[in-house]
Amino acid sequence: MARKSKAVVLRETGQSVVVEEVMIQSPRRGEIMIKMAACGVCHSDLSVVNGTIGLPAPIVLGHEGAGVVVEVGEDVADFAVGDHVVSSFSYSCGKCRFCLIGRAVLCVDRDKASFTLADGSTPAADAAGKALNVMCGCGVMSEYATVSVNSAVKIDPTIPLDRAALVGCGVTTGVGAALNTAKVTPGSTAVVFGAGGVGLNVIQGCAVAGAMRIIAVDMSESKLELARQFGATDVILTKAGEDHTKAIKKLTDGGADYAFECIGYGAVGELAYKCLGRGGVAVMVGVAAPSDTLSIRTMTLPFEEKTLMGSYFGSCVPRVDFPRILGLYKGHKLKLDELISRRYSIDEAPKAFADLAAGGNGRGVIIF
Ligand SMILES: [Zn+2]
Ligand SMILES: [Zn+2]
Repeated sequence: MARKSKAVVLRETGQSVVVEEVMIQSPRRGEIMIKMAACGVCHSDLSVVNGTIGLPAPIVLGHEGAGVVVEVGEDVADFAVGDHVVSSFSYSCGKCRFCLIGRAVLCVDRDKASFTLADGSTPAADAAGKALNVMCGCGVMSEYATVSVNSAVKIDPTIPLDRAALVGCGVTTGVGAALNTAKVTPGSTAVVFGAGGVGLNVIQGCAVAGAMRIIAVDMSESKLELARQFGATDVILTKAGEDHTKAIKKLTDGGADYAFECIGYGAVGELAYKCLGRGGVAVMVGVAAPSDTLSIRTMTLPFEEKTLMGSYFGSCVPRVDFPRILGLYKGHKLKLDELISRRYSIDEAPKAFADLAAGGNGRGVIIF
């Protein structure tokens, strides 16, 4: 049945978010309705609010949520009422050539579910009956959400849902960049530029993979302190425009095996590439502005067999990687508790967005 639901809505790009009562439709064929338990407040939500990511308002925000299935639509075989699930912000159809070769983040239908469900419809409407878009086909900053089965993953019900929510975006983006994209090997050396939410997860991904030396570079001392807690063996406090290539090459016996750019600047990507040794791999994880570019010395590609590559959502296959990452958490190999800096009620959502905009460490999570 359709349900009333308090939701965090962006009415107009550039305005602050509002909490209002909306209606969420019951699930149709291939859909499930989730009673949300928690939803992370991610930088991408803020980017939708301020217009950096251009999704049309009015829109229900949220793409990093976890909850319990309360209703399933027709032809839903993989989910049942009572299942614990995490939303995936990247829709994957499971049938296209990218999905079939294990590159679900490149699904040809991915971008069809950026502000509606993949079929262009939306399950949310406001009190006046006007349709509301849903961020990333999720719209999980809401007490209830109806999503495609291709936007949700069943998880171990013993994992606390506020922690589980984080694998729906930030944690998988970082950990996956190390494990899936770069395929960091034991005994290797890695440099991570930017120790924010994503960078910290790259650092712990490198640690899980057995990297011997993990160097974190950031402009904030407090972030570097956190980086140490997440597995960085060395930290470098930097300023905008500073080049620490020499120091990094010294620490890594001639150049790093892996370097990760987790901020979203081509100029930092150039530094990441420069500090690599022979055969090194530089991974762009941060999302740069559309006009941003970078340049590298072309001849180093063949002569040193270097690689420059990108990583989207940790090159994950949600149904494989969410349970895998949560298993690492359960086995005390990965930190999630320490990522949550503050919990908010849904009524406090505007404050959560203001806190995020003001900066600071870690992740705010809305608890329903
Ligand atoms: Zn996100
Ligand atoms: Zn696909």
